[in-house]
Amino acid sequence: MKLPSIDRWGSLTGKRVLVRVDFNVPVDTVNGVLTVVDDFRIRAAVPLFHELMSRGAQVVACTHFGRPKSAEDVEFSVAPLRRRLEELCPDVELLENLRFNPGEVANDFEFGRSLIEGFDYYVNEAFGVSHRKHASIMVPPQLVPSAAGPNLDHEVAVLLGVLHDPVRPFVAIFGGAKVADKIDLIKVMAEKADTVVVGGGMAYTFWCAEGRTIGTSLCDESRIDICRELMRTGKVLISHDVQALPSDAPFGAKGGNETPTICEENIPDGWQALDIGPRTVAAFQDVIDSAKTILWNGPMGVFEDSRFSGGTEAIAREVAASAATSIVGGGDSASAIKKFGLQNEVSYVSTGGGASMELVERGDLCGLRALRESPWTPS
Ligand code: AMP
Repeated sequence: MKLPSIDRWGSLTGKRVLVRVDFNVPVDTVNGVLTVVDDFRIRAAVPLFHELMSRGAQVVACTHFGRPKSAEDVEFSVAPLRRRLEELCPDVELLENLRFNPGEVANDFEFGRSLIEGFDYYVNEAFGVSHRKHASIMVPPQLVPSAAGPNLDHEVAVLLGVLHDPVRPFVAIFGGAKVADKIDLIKVMAEKADTVVVGGGMAYTFWCAEGRTIGTSLCDESRIDICRELMRTGKVLISHDVQALPSDAPFGAKGGNETPTICEENIPDGWQALDIGPRTVAAFQDVIDSAKTILWNGPMGVFEDSRFSGGTEAIAREVAASAATSIVGGGDSASAIKKFGLQNEVSYVSTGGGASMELVERGDLCGLRALRESPWTPS
């Protein structure tokens, strides 16, 4: 996919450039001050700012931050982000949280117009929100010459490259809680990949489709038929033993120290499966070992609780050790990879969970279309 680039603009002396970034980063109170605790996304935008400024531009950045209900939600002010940006790149101004104005999420043309007013150029460097029809993504390309930022461009190229021309065997690994969120993506992968591995909470809808009992484990009854169809492709490999706890036992962030039991094939009434078991880990590891391309989205269990993080950690380590091109997409698998300190061992960790899934599923995003269809973009 060819996206317009900043390269064709040449000198930007005296020009004002608005850069839409995704600085929706974690913050925490340190010594009584709200402080950015992971500045990866801010640092990643700095080379672009320097490039634009070296060509003479005055650069202003804008981002959303959390989900404020209104401008009165002061805890969502971008003040902590500004403090960090000021240290990294003092000449770039950061506008206040875009979502303080309801026009942002409503894709209100007037809000988008007021945002870009006074600017000569627009750059979208916010891959993680480029699947959202929000004003700061959709409106500026209609009004000024616009381009994709280098990080956005790279992320799109990596994800589409894997989809269109994967080195085989191509293995897609899915986990996480809700089968409904990812079923369309799993369908696409059942066509494109050689094997689709399914673990995590979503696997139990597949168990139901096979007529197994699942106790109180997660199940989406409305998706059982489609899971059954997917099993018929012969490409889907699901967990076959799991670690379960009685459903009334406290787990996860709530604490608790009961030892889980391994269940095979069926899960008794009143028990809930929270991680994959050792036989499943071994079977999934074999498939990962044979892969030349891996796409991984979603944890294998409730990895936030150390009693149920073993499956996710084993799979993360196997993916990291593999010589395959490995792409980890989606917020929770990205946090799992980081939790185990493996982010530098995989080929690519995609920053935008929803956006990367939609790009792989549909091959395009509304924000990318907006850039390509801008009246200033050469056809
Ligand atoms: P997702 O956002 O769909 O990737 O889901 C991530 C969440 O799925 C994590 O918070 C996990 O704790 C949760 N999860 C993974 N496996 C299970 C399971 N077996 N039962 C309940 N929740 C799970």
